[in-house]
Parts: sequence; C-alpha cells; structure tokens
Amino acid sequence: GDPESSILVSKIPSRQQTKRVTITTRSEYGNYRESPLATSSYREDIPSPLPSTRPASAMESPTSLHTLGLGPEVHPNDLESNLRRLKPIQVISAYLELMDHVKRMERQADLREELLRRNQKQIEAKDKIIKERDMLVRKMERDLERIDEEPESVSLAPSDASTIGAVRCRFFSSGCPYRLPSMEFHEDRECKFRPTRCPSLTCPIKPPFAKLLEHVQDDHNGSKKGRDRICRNNSNQLVSSYVNIDKEPVFYKTTRMTWVANELICDSFHFFLECMRVPPDWHLWVYIIGSEKDAEKYQATIQLFREDEYGQVADLGYSAQRSYTGQVISIHRSKEEIAEFSLGFMVHDKQIRSLCGTISNAEEQLFGYEVSVYRK
Ligand SMILES: [Zn+2]
Ligand SMILES: [Zn+2]
Repeated sequence: GDPESSILVSKIPSRQQTKRVTITTRSEYGNYRESPLATSSYREDIPSPLPSTRPASAMESPTSLHTLGLGPEVHPNDLESNLRRLKPIQVISAYLELMDHVKRMERQADLREELLRRNQKQIEAKDKIIKERDMLVRKMERDLERIDEEPESVSLAPSDASTIGAVRCRFFSSGCPYRLPSMEFHEDRECKFRPTRCPSLTCPIKPPFAKLLEHVQDDHNGSKKGRDRICRNNSNQLVSSYVNIDKEPVFYKTTRMTWVANELICDSFHFFLECMRVPPDWHLWVYIIGSEKDAEKYQATIQLFREDEYGQVADLGYSAQRSYTGQVISIHRSKEEIAEFSLGFMVHDKQIRSLCGTISNAEEQLFGYEVSVYRK
C-alpha cells in the first residue's frame, strides 16, 4: 500500500510547562504503531502564557479596577453608575491600569503565537525525518527486489559471471550470499543511456538506448541526406520483397551489402527485420529494441519465396520456399557478431538464387518474404 504518516500532537503546553509530542506512523500493513524514537517529553523555559492568577502587584494596587468597582465581574448596568461616582484622578488611574491590562494581554497573545510557531517547526522537522525514513525503506526494498532478480537477469557466460557480472559483499566470507551488480556492469550491460546501435545497418551514429526511436524518427525518415530510410510499420507481421537497384547483379558482388530495415511492433516493443549479404551467405534476422532478457521472450518466423508466386493458391503452392523460426536478437548485438555466429536465418547464395526473379528496368527482383513476430 501507499505509505502514509500522520502526526498527532498533544494540546498546547499545560501549566506545568511540559510538552509531549507523540508521532504515530502507519506501518506497511496498515495498523498503527507508536514509534519509540519519535516520542519525546521535555521541559521548556517558556513562561506560561495562561497564568491562572493575576500578578500580586495588580491585586495590591490602590487604584485597582476591582477597588474602583470596575472589575470584569461587574454587571454592565452597574458599570456606568460606578464610573459616575469616580473622581477624575481615579478615572485616569483606572484608564492607565486598563492600558496596562491590555498590554499584558497583548504580550500573552504574542507568547502564545510564538509557542504555536515553535510547535509547528517541531512538527515539520519530525515530518521530514519520517519522510526521509520512508524513502530509505523504499529504496532498500527496491534494492532487495533487484538483488532477488539478479540471478535471472544476468545472462553471462559462466566464465565471466563471477568476475564481471557481480561484486560480492565484503562480508562474503562470513556467509553473506549477496552479489551486487558493479558499476562497470551497469555501464556495460544495464544503463539505459549507454550508446547502442541504430537498426539501419549503414548508420554510424550510436544513439543512447533511451533515445533510439527518436533517432530513427528524426534521422531515418527519408529526408536526411546520407541516412537510409527505415520503413516504419505498425503491425507484428509484414509481407514484402527485396530488390537490388545497383547496376551490378547481386550475385556478382564480392563485398558486403545490406538492405533497408523494416519495423514491426509487438506488445509495446519495436522490432526491425534486417537483411545482409556477406558473400556467399545471406543473413536475415529480427532485432528487438530491448535487452537480451527481452529478446528471450519473442520469436520471429521468416519465410522466403519467389516474389512472383506470392498469393498463389494452395494446390499450386510455391515452387520453392525456405522458412525459419527463431528468437529475436537484442539490438546490442552487432551485425558482425550475428554473421560470425549465424545467430539469425542464414542461407547460401545457392539456396537464394532459385527464389530470385529477373532484372528489368535496371532493377533486380530478389526474393519475397513474410515475417512475423510474436511472444513465445
Ligand atoms: Zn547509467
Ligand atoms: Zn541511425
């Protein structure tokens, strides 16, 4: 639940001038408990603002309002007749005493206000301490959750797991089992602002992971010179085909070639179908804008066929087709790594050639494809 704290403060100081401030915090489970640390009882050297008896001097004064029959307990009807009976000197004296009385009451009001202010300040200070404590507790809870998740989220080779992946608690030898991710690990594997790669295989920019889609939108919408367009789609499935617009036929080329990335969306994740030829092999794979852990949850199916046979009815079928189903690949993996370890769909020139069409209008029709991404 939402942690709340409420403060109960006892009334304004009583006559014996001791104050007791009790702070009650609500525990996580909703029941109230009194925190022993937050309770204090102390004396203060502030004169009581509410004396129960008047100062002795006022009582003994010969011109006391009481003596003159003008005290507060005199009935208003008697007040006027009493005043008429007074000598002028007595009226002046009564007036002076009245002024004195007013001043005393003003001082008392000031004192009371001062006390209230002090009380308020103490409440605020205690409130701050409670809030800080709550924040600390929440932070510790989050840290604990993270430590609990750690063994799952770290997907490292067994050999580096103990060295790069985590730092042991320094009380390990006494039996503490906790391992914390190191800063190096955070910067290398977790940080949402570490540089990542762009889904455009020809793009040299390394945008921060958290700003990758912004980069795709701004730099790869087809209007920026020297930047490939990235085809944006709003579906988890796509049918299209690749063409070669180079003068040289694709199978004569001896250098690496890449094609435009195609976006797919599934749940709230963005995926990109990639195609690269490293003669004589072709590599097709689906990138996920996400971590290795996110990648483990999604699969892609890629089907290759002759473009001119797309949509043929079942009995005619395709003359040839190849398909692949496998895990999507985190954007943090490089295309070199993907080609080297054949992490995606790898097909040889000899297998692709029969799926390709003819060259017409300076455009070479390559194979058609259908790709879909879905949760495992
Ligand atoms: Zn960071
Ligand atoms: Zn880019």
